[in-house]
Amino acid sequence: MRLIVFAVALLFAVETYAAESWLIPADKIYTAPDAAPLTQGAVLTWGERIQSVVDEKSRPRIPKGTKTADQCRGVVVAGFQNSHVHFTEPVWNDAAHAGADALTRGLEKMLSRYGFTTVFDTGSDQANTVELRARITKGEVRGPRILTVGLPLYPVDGIPVYIKDLPPEVLARMHQPKNAEEARAAVRTNLANGADGTKLFLHTSPDGTAARFMTADVIRAAVEETHAQGKLVLAHPTSLEAIRGALAGKVDILVHTTLGEKAPWDDGIVRQMVAQHMSVIPTFKLWDYELRKQDVPAPIIEKLIADTQTELRAFSAAGGQILFGTDVGYMHEYDPTDEYVYLQKAGLTPAQILASLTTAPADRWNEGAKRGRVAAGQQADLVVLEGDPVEDVRNFAKVRCAFSAGRLIYSAKAP
Ligand SMILES: [Zn+2]
Repeated sequence: MRLIVFAVALLFAVETYAAESWLIPADKIYTAPDAAPLTQGAVLTWGERIQSVVDEKSRPRIPKGTKTADQCRGVVVAGFQNSHVHFTEPVWNDAAHAGADALTRGLEKMLSRYGFTTVFDTGSDQANTVELRARITKGEVRGPRILTVGLPLYPVDGIPVYIKDLPPEVLARMHQPKNAEEARAAVRTNLANGADGTKLFLHTSPDGTAARFMTADVIRAAVEETHAQGKLVLAHPTSLEAIRGALAGKVDILVHTTLGEKAPWDDGIVRQMVAQHMSVIPTFKLWDYELRKQDVPAPIIEKLIADTQTELRAFSAAGGQILFGTDVGYMHEYDPTDEYVYLQKAGLTPAQILASLTTAPADRWNEGAKRGRVAAGQQADLVVLEGDPVEDVRNFAKVRCAFSAGRLIYSAKAP
């Protein structure tokens, strides 16, 4: 009996960490993108959840051990999801054994300090990313919740030119299914090894010029296998032709708009995307970053990005679901400020940008009942901003504090 009690106690010590409880004073609280803000109040968290959201007149009962986050006071919104990141930089190497502080600092620099409390990794060394996630879950490392697609699927002979520098042992594991059966097997392996979805490269240029397309039967098989396990399929489109392939194959999310196409998305494509509930992650800043690397003159960059903004404006006006994402990790510039400005220039209101960061990804991942809003019972994923993002969308990137499932993962000022 004593042995059993000891074993249970040990299990408990390994599986959990001390719950945190926070009282977060607020100048303003946006409980949801479409709700009028509360002025002067507070959010009380207990463990992983939000206990209550109160206005200035209420006096909530504060559980013993609650810490007051005075250093965080500001504008409270729900925690952000970045739906397009990569854990591919050297800081993540050997995540199972790397120092916890170094990993926490790496996560803080790339994600936590910008309020990302959930991130979707759309391609990395799967085993390593799963180790990184495990150390966050155990509480050794502080950072956002990580979802991942693990290793993406590519067209045959279609490893893109920009990832050819990866270590040969990683490149050797890249899936390039030749037929439906191999596609299903690749998806099953990824999901069995801890992936939360599937990523397809539909159109690549292995040497920077030749085009390789994923075939319709491979797309369809990968989608069916992923959906059968209740997960989503994300696709890198590159071209209009590949978007048509994604629509035919019932892909769920496009991880980019398409750059430099002769014709923009037409009404038919946009209507079909919306009808099939296909979501789009715009990554405007990435286009600027890539074109600057190629020394493209600024006026041409502006024109090319304006074309993709026109596409997104049409998609948004037709009721399409937009998910925020930056491709950070692949893109070494971490600050998302420019992306917020680009989204506003594409016609999104601050409330729509907030939705792309909170309620839209929660709904898309079927977790709307659990997260995405500031309400009692929801997961305590919270961001406190310095200023009101409705007055200036740049304020979305000016974060005082971030809490992921009730844990303080970033504080600009020491408590
Ligand atoms: Zn990417």
